[in-house]
Amino acid sequence: MKKPEHVLLIYPPLNNIVFFGTFEPLVLEIFSSIAKQEGCKVELIDIRFDPKGLENLAEKGYSPDLIGLATHGYSEVSIVNELARTCRSIWPHAVITVGGGQATITPELFDATAYDYLVKGPGENLWRRFCREGLSRQSEYQLIQDDHVSKEYTFPTPDRGISEKYRQHYRLTRGGGRAAFIVMTQGCPFRCTFCAIWPASLKLYRLRVIDEIVTEMKSIKEDYVYIGDDNTFANYNFANRLADEFIAAGIYKKMVTACRADHISKHPELFEKWASIGLKEIIIGIEATSDEQLEQFNKAANVADNIKAIQILKQCGIRPIVHLLVPPHWNHADFDRLYDFIIEYRIETPIIIPLTPIPGTKDYKMYKEKGEIVTESEEFFTFNFNVLKPKHMGLKAFDHAYDRIEKRVYSLKRYFGGYCGDIKFMEYLRWYIFIRIYLLYLRKRRKKLYKLVNPALL
Ligand code: SF4
Repeated sequence: MKKPEHVLLIYPPLNNIVFFGTFEPLVLEIFSSIAKQEGCKVELIDIRFDPKGLENLAEKGYSPDLIGLATHGYSEVSIVNELARTCRSIWPHAVITVGGGQATITPELFDATAYDYLVKGPGENLWRRFCREGLSRQSEYQLIQDDHVSKEYTFPTPDRGISEKYRQHYRLTRGGGRAAFIVMTQGCPFRCTFCAIWPASLKLYRLRVIDEIVTEMKSIKEDYVYIGDDNTFANYNFANRLADEFIAAGIYKKMVTACRADHISKHPELFEKWASIGLKEIIIGIEATSDEQLEQFNKAANVADNIKAIQILKQCGIRPIVHLLVPPHWNHADFDRLYDFIIEYRIETPIIIPLTPIPGTKDYKMYKEKGEIVTESEEFFTFNFNVLKPKHMGLKAFDHAYDRIEKRVYSLKRYFGGYCGDIKFMEYLRWYIFIRIYLLYLRKRRKKLYKLVNPALL
């Protein structure tokens, strides 16, 4: 075991279409900073834009001592395994590590002989140790977990220079410009049944050191910043102080983040303050339009809070990007009720998501035990496809109902009827076109899905 000199960081491609934007590989930029602080020389390959990057490095005679592979979600597990096997064949002496959310909740899905170490949960302290002390090769991966995770979420300013060669690609979709990515918190204190975030972060909710965030925000060149948190505002005092520090430091960026509705409905003044420093959009997990369904999701929220939150955000000039889930027990009347909700509250650009039981979540366990998962094929666990047995109709009819509501929601009739809030026509038109391309994509991909499932379910 010797201290690594050359460290290679690899960001895998996604197995999905891009809804909001393509973002920088932040976790690897953080790991690059840590590795450099420990005296290592670092290379980064973003396979999304450099599919032959590993082979090209090898041709130049490059040979890493330590490789760090990031993961995305369940749908990319095979891709990450394949990348690890490629690394193993090119650089048989390198130590290969993997970590991230899906590795934490389903380590058994990762190829045991392709990695030397699989890190569960927060990995920044362990990564520093790996870079400082080195690791030895293993015949099968060893599971490692940091037993002393600090309460505060702290790490050095990400090394954005390491991804400079790809930076032109990190942009928002639908005509948006260049965008940076940042994190301010990690995990979530809630326990929704469909959500992989809380098990993936070992039930922790950590707040980043505010001075670190301010320093990093000041260093970001892009005007638009995507805050990649799952729940930025769960701690009112933290979020309020952070906004005050941004104001004191003269920081103004166009920002988007995610938040629960109840935090918004309890503290409208907080969101007015954040709007004044540039918060433009909030992804808000409304999930359902009935208290009964919210209860089933263990969302610990109610419809009244959801509606109030949408109204507060609109008053503040922040667009709510409302997420709504489509569970498999829906009938046609349920789809119609969802449409009526969207109309009534003039939700500009709702994201309607088939309920997807990601392995490692409570929902996965429940639907698996009931035998209601129609395919385990990971390429369909991208939150775009229904992979559950519908209760009241066949799979094709259910998919048709889903497509129909998407078309009704993103229709010119809804826009010109005045039911789309204050979104400008050209922006709505981009969504309108995007959704129609998206539906064509779904129809094409579903042909494969239908071949995988029991024909009696179609
Ligand atoms: S509130 Fe959001 S992030 Fe937290 S557990 Fe529920 S869905 Fe996941």
